[in-house]
Amino acid sequence: MINSTQYIDDRDLDIIPEDKIHEIIEKNRRVDKREILDILTEAKKLKGISLEHTAKLLMVEDNDLLEEIFQTASYIKNEIYGKRLVLFAPLYISNLCHNECLYCAFRATNKHLTRKILNQDEIAEEVTALIDQGHKRVLMVAGESYPKEGFEYVLKSIDTIYSVNRGKGKEIRRVNVNVAPLEVEEFKLLKDAKIGTYQVFQEVYHYDTYKKIHLGGQKRNYKYRLRAIDRAFQAGIDDLGIGILFGLYDYRFEIIALRMHIRHLEKEFGLGPHTISVPRLEPADQSDIAKNPPAPVSDKDFKKLIAVLRISVPYTGLILSTRETPQMRREAFSMGISQISAGSRTNPGGYHVAPENHEEGMAEQFSLGDTRPIDEVVRDVVKFGFIPSFCTSCYRSGRTGLDFMELAKPGEIKKFCAPNAVLTFMEYISDYASDETKQEGMKLIKQILKEINSPKIEKKYQQIIDGERDIIV
Ligand code: SAM
Ligand code: SF4
Repeated sequence: MINSTQYIDDRDLDIIPEDKIHEIIEKNRRVDKREILDILTEAKKLKGISLEHTAKLLMVEDNDLLEEIFQTASYIKNEIYGKRLVLFAPLYISNLCHNECLYCAFRATNKHLTRKILNQDEIAEEVTALIDQGHKRVLMVAGESYPKEGFEYVLKSIDTIYSVNRGKGKEIRRVNVNVAPLEVEEFKLLKDAKIGTYQVFQEVYHYDTYKKIHLGGQKRNYKYRLRAIDRAFQAGIDDLGIGILFGLYDYRFEIIALRMHIRHLEKEFGLGPHTISVPRLEPADQSDIAKNPPAPVSDKDFKKLIAVLRISVPYTGLILSTRETPQMRREAFSMGISQISAGSRTNPGGYHVAPENHEEGMAEQFSLGDTRPIDEVVRDVVKFGFIPSFCTSCYRSGRTGLDFMELAKPGEIKKFCAPNAVLTFMEYISDYASDETKQEGMKLIKQILKEINSPKIEKKYQQIIDGERDIIV
């Protein structure tokens, strides 16, 4: 293990030129109302905006101008994705970790935590519980060291997740993964295991902060982590997710750095990430930093940064987790979030073992802001006019990477999103929803079907009512 006394300079100025980022921020500090409105008008053409304009929007503090930013983000989200909001659940398979990230309960030196590595039977039990709630998409998550099988454990776990079937159409149809950065050859195996998205968050792009907070294990190597997405692309995975853990360093710097990262990927591989995650630091067992973030992001700034990301990189999915409270999540839906987790547990075994039976020290990775069951989240999404979607169609129809972008850029993707959202939501309503959710959901489905106005989709909808499942548009 690399320990905190070793300091290897592994910054990566080719991708993250810090001086240039500071310069962009300094040059764009002054906010002129007319200029901001012009940037927003330009943004509505759905072509994204420059780094300089992104920095300008991030400086806005005035509430009326912020409202303009929110409305532009909402317009863009609606133009590209329509009203759908995709739902998923994280599945923590192991909390074993050799790294020393000061904000995380799973870090190696946290002796207070009971280590738990789910075996394949236990993973199957977790998946059973998730399928029985209505989930179709899972994000498999693990700490960064594996039991004795090594990386094989990850591959076996993906197979196990796909293998559980609870009746017609009642299965997990897409497994995304958030595990330690890999070598190209290992990424190839991950691709062969038929994953959806591979996610890895840089956490904090600012180099000195990164080094102060990641004290041991492979994650201490900044460059190795930053280049993980390159290696995944080289291995042929074209559906990739990046993210920032907000609260560690100034959010304006971090967003411009993330845009620099995307620019590098577009230059090298012709394609940026498919998703961006925006976790905000939450309290975690035995972590001072998690309780007292060094660069806290207020709710106002958090909403702003989500909206600015939607405007800045319009075709990239934005993911919000249950770290946030129901109120924040509601507000974020309209500002451009396109995927949310629901009914989450962040401790291995959290779905099938009742909380009263958890062993002492079986802490969650961090505390959750939204602990509502999925049915309540679904009802809430409907109440705010969005269609809860369990769609896994793009990835299974090969619409990934450049193919996805070719559809997204001319605004074609929502022609797939809305029908797939309606069909998969109808499956949820038929198989899992409470009476109250059914009632509210059916009103929305009828309205959306009217808007779609397609005999072909009506027919498919009828097939779902007649008991067919997993009909892909
Ligand atoms: N171990 C892998 C890693 O670190 O990339 C994958 C899983 S890790 C459990 C998933 C993410 O949880 C991390 O990338 C980090 O952003 C987030 N996380 C860790 N501690 C957190 C905290 N206290 N509050 C919010 N998010 C946290
Ligand atoms: Fe391990 Fe990931 Fe937690 Fe860091 S964030 S301690 S790598 S599980």
